[in-house]
Amino acid sequence: MSERILSLRCRACGATTPIAAQHACDECFGPLEVAYDYAEIARRVSRSAIEAGPPSIWRYRDLLPLDDGLEPITLGEGLSPLVHARNLGELLGLRHLYLKNDTQNPTGSFKDRVVSVAASWARGHGFDTIACASTGNLANAVAAYAAHAGLHAVVVIPADLEAAKIAATAVYGPTLVRVTGTYDDANRLGSELVDEVPWAFCNINVRPFYSEGSKTLTYETVEQLGWRLPDEIVIPIASGSQFVKADKAIRELVEIGLVDGPARTRLTGAQAAGCGPVAAAFRTGQPVTPVRSPETVARSLAIGNPSDGEDVIRAARRTGGVVESAGDEEILDSVELLARTEGIFAETAGGVTVSVLRRLAAQGRWRGDETVVAYITGHGLKTAEALDGRGGLDEPIAPSLRAFAERYGLAHAAPVPHG
Ligand SMILES: *Cc1c(COP(=O)(O)O)cnc(C)c1O
Ligand SMILES: [Zn+2]
Repeated sequence: MSERILSLRCRACGATTPIAAQHACDECFGPLEVAYDYAEIARRVSRSAIEAGPPSIWRYRDLLPLDDGLEPITLGEGLSPLVHARNLGELLGLRHLYLKNDTQNPTGSFKDRVVSVAASWARGHGFDTIACASTGNLANAVAAYAAHAGLHAVVVIPADLEAAKIAATAVYGPTLVRVTGTYDDANRLGSELVDEVPWAFCNINVRPFYSEGSKTLTYETVEQLGWRLPDEIVIPIASGSQFVKADKAIRELVEIGLVDGPARTRLTGAQAAGCGPVAAAFRTGQPVTPVRSPETVARSLAIGNPSDGEDVIRAARRTGGVVESAGDEEILDSVELLARTEGIFAETAGGVTVSVLRRLAAQGRWRGDETVVAYITGHGLKTAEALDGRGGLDEPIAPSLRAFAERYGLAHAAPVPHG
């Protein structure tokens, strides 16, 4: 059996280096990508073998950078529902709108995919501590997966993150380091620590392996569409990694013959206006300029200096996609709209994605028969506090039929809710 995982290859200059816990090219500091032998992978995979695999991201194991023979660390992440959004689609004039509901992951966000891969690789390569700098969701996932695997976890977060995200990290018992400052400040500390301590930092030294986990969101989408590529995917952008990996995933599926090419899927990005450096650069045609003080309810996307920003713009332009942004009020409205039309409670990042869908639909981007998929990447309970003060609740009533009838009447149809 020949080798499936070849090396790390620089996305910028193409230089290769052996597989190791390293994320930047020795030649040019460009990001390193895992390079595979696709002929070997094509020999191993088939649609039916994947469909017969485990109900998690690990059904795509042959396309992930975990050496054969190493055990994955898994909590059942992935294979989340692809929901045909008939009600929201009708509002937007899209008959084939689908939502990839990644709120349905073990810790409630798509980060479980990437951490499962990173933690598995790290343990398999001798690390006993996994670490990260995080805007929240990564912290939840690192802490949970480390607990499950019996590894140590060190998590660095901005001190003022949403209370629910802090609680949903602390409960797993990691070393939880709260820093005064933004995510970018937390990440800078991580980058300094990684040179001093023998830890696997998911989004730093083991980032090439970590980020490969993002591909599974797109593999699954294509599988769930009956092995068809959608016409467009709308993807929220923080560092831009997930976006870049959607592009890689589609090219791989064509390369290994699981779907017919050429790929025509447009890749479209969504950011919050209060931290939208990639959307701004897409609009102006200028290089991505870091945002120093992110100011948005979409905290999980609030990366002011997105490492894959330029690659996102290139992939968006090459595929015919766009990168759009939306303001906070719009984001919160969209969280409610999504919940009320489709029964899916997304975190504010999901509101960003739905807002961009609405904007593009209003601009007349679609005829109506396109297959459009939106990635809903985190659960609403994580950011429930962002909805505080919206839509007042009815005053309580006495638990009597009379009090009920006085307030709501006794018509056979349900009363119309306030607001
Ligand atoms: C991390 C995250 C993303 C995307 O992150 P990238 O850094 O762009 O890969 C999207 N949605 C949520 C909820 C996230 O936590
Ligand atoms: Zn390079």
